[in-house]
Amino acid sequence: MTLVRVRYAPSPTGAPHIGNIRTALFTWLFARHHGGKFIVRIEDTDQAREVDNGLELILESLRWLGLDWDEGPGVGGPFGPYSQSERLPLYQKWAHWLVEHSHAYRCYCTTERLEQMRKDQEARKQSPGYDRRCRFMSDAERRAKEQSGIVPVIRLAVPLSGATTYHDLIHGDVTFDNKNIDDQVLLKSDGFPTYHLAVVVDDHEMQITHITRGDDWISSGPKHALLYRAFGWEMPALAQLPMTLGPDRKKLSKRHGSTSVIDFREQGYLPEAMINFLARLGWSYDDHTEIFSRDELIRLFDLDRVHPSAAIFDMEKLNWLNGHYIRALSTLELAQRVRPFLDAAGLEGDNDVLLAVTPLIQTRIKTLKEAVSLTDFFFVERVEPSAAQLLGKGFGGRPDQAADAIGAVIDTLRALSPFDAPALEQALRALAERSNFKTGALFTLVREAITARSVTPPLFDTIAILGRERTCARLEHARRVLQAAAPIQAP
Ligand code: GLU
Ligand code: ZN
Repeated sequence: MTLVRVRYAPSPTGAPHIGNIRTALFTWLFARHHGGKFIVRIEDTDQAREVDNGLELILESLRWLGLDWDEGPGVGGPFGPYSQSERLPLYQKWAHWLVEHSHAYRCYCTTERLEQMRKDQEARKQSPGYDRRCRFMSDAERRAKEQSGIVPVIRLAVPLSGATTYHDLIHGDVTFDNKNIDDQVLLKSDGFPTYHLAVVVDDHEMQITHITRGDDWISSGPKHALLYRAFGWEMPALAQLPMTLGPDRKKLSKRHGSTSVIDFREQGYLPEAMINFLARLGWSYDDHTEIFSRDELIRLFDLDRVHPSAAIFDMEKLNWLNGHYIRALSTLELAQRVRPFLDAAGLEGDNDVLLAVTPLIQTRIKTLKEAVSLTDFFFVERVEPSAAQLLGKGFGGRPDQAADAIGAVIDTLRALSPFDAPALEQALRALAERSNFKTGALFTLVREAITARSVTPPLFDTIAILGRERTCARLEHARRVLQAAAPIQAP
């Protein structure tokens, strides 16, 4: 058995798309399952499409998910450099080799001529493609072009008849008629290769055994197969993975919400949930298992259970998985993961309080970020509920009554011992019963007074953690807000 060597070959054109990261995950799982090597290669030959921090965003996404690479940026390896822009002489060498062996030719067509050709083809409703004008030039014509100083591109000389077939582990045999394959540019006039030449040269040079990529590349396969044949190289096995679509079965895009893995991190998704979710986009183990740890995935993943049809991105499932993994964390781990979200919201505050609060929210949140609005009031000195918020439905129109109710609550809390959740519950329920306040209305009033929020962790636990002094200070403040809102009593 040869050692499995697979590569993830992103282009640094922005924060990687979630579908692209799914490809990285499948590639990584395949490598780890087979005890092979996972290589990251940066395909940065299309300089116009590059963005400044593109590389960093790619590596950051991989690191966050824990997809470690054996060769590539930062770690090096025996087949480097791992950025294509640093390998130009190699592609130039092989492009010229192809010309010398009549598998490729120099094309001198100007941009203007190609533009005109495209327009004519459109007008005649012909399929677009290079008309091969430079392919059959006489030597004299060619010399004249060279002497005029035009720098040519190099194009693949696709066979004029017949068909090209290659095998795909997921899609089976794929066949294209050669007459439908364009004489693809391989080397541009600036000396940069196109994707097609660079990918074939590198996959060969880097001894890749299996090519994994999205099946949007299916129609590039024949060009690559022709190149392998021309070079006399063995083509690696090929697995073109199904696309990820939105719920409307359209290509997953910003219209469907977040599409970059960095966004998901910032919204408070856990990497373990993300891995589990992405693994199920196009792969399944059986017809019912949904939860897979990283180790289980490494053990169970293989390409034979990747489906050829597109996968649908189901946000509800991601939320469900994220909730599952949040509940599986220890209190300490969850608190540690929530901490950066509180910091980002400017809520510094006490780690002991955070640890006390964490169990109260663990079953309630689906993302780490949701912890912020559920707990922010613990980490600020005071809260500012409005009179309308305090009154709600329960005390609507009766601020004086609400102020009295709060006064009674303060008296109850001042006298309470011990100051814990069960004692608080008992005392406040008893208060509601012996006065004429509705229990629900009273609790809502107290909740708004001490948190300024209508959705919070359980009330009595919240009061216990806030403590007697802070709770009473907030209640006093709320009482003043209500008194200020009360109509002036007639003397
Ligand atoms: N650079 C290509 C991409 O980002 C790689 C395709 C391939 O893996 O061959 O999609
Ligand atoms: Zn030409």
